Amino acid sequence: MASIDLEDVILEIPTEAPPFPLPSRSLESAPIWASGADGVLRIDRCGSCEYYIHPPSPRCPECGSWEVAPSAVSGRGTVYTFTIGLQEFIPGFPPHCVALVEIDEQPDVRVIGRVAGCRASEVEIGRVVQASFNRVNDEVWLPYFTLVAS
Ligand SMILES: [Zn+2]
Repeated sequence: MASIDLEDVILEIPTEAPPFPLPSRSLESAPIWASGADGVLRIDRCGSCEYYIHPPSPRCPECGSWEVAPSAVSGRGTVYTFTIGLQEFIPGFPPHCVALVEIDEQPDVRVIGRVAGCRASEVEIGRVVQASFNRVNDEVWLPYFTLVAS
């Protein structure tokens, strides 16, 4: 089998609904999935101790408070780890990078999203990224990340 040069693999910016099941939405997570409508990433935050909570939860794991609500964050983060999918397991789904991104506000909060708009060879652990959104419908805006020039 011929090897693939990641320099030649373009990670396209997602513009359509993905050809895989959408995230399930709960009472707690629905506001987070809809949050990208205004281009702002939001993460649940405790109103008592200000701890960011992700995945969404109705109760703060740090102080036990129920005073939890979505809170705007910068959308800026750092690639913690990632994988690049080249095999076309789903017909029509282009090569893609799925990353775990630590948000700048609190690095133990890690958001899953695609890294797009670059070559696969440019994605590295430690790269700074910025969140954008792919509108799937009015209820789901999937976050994805683009590389910030270093
Ligand atoms: Zn708390």
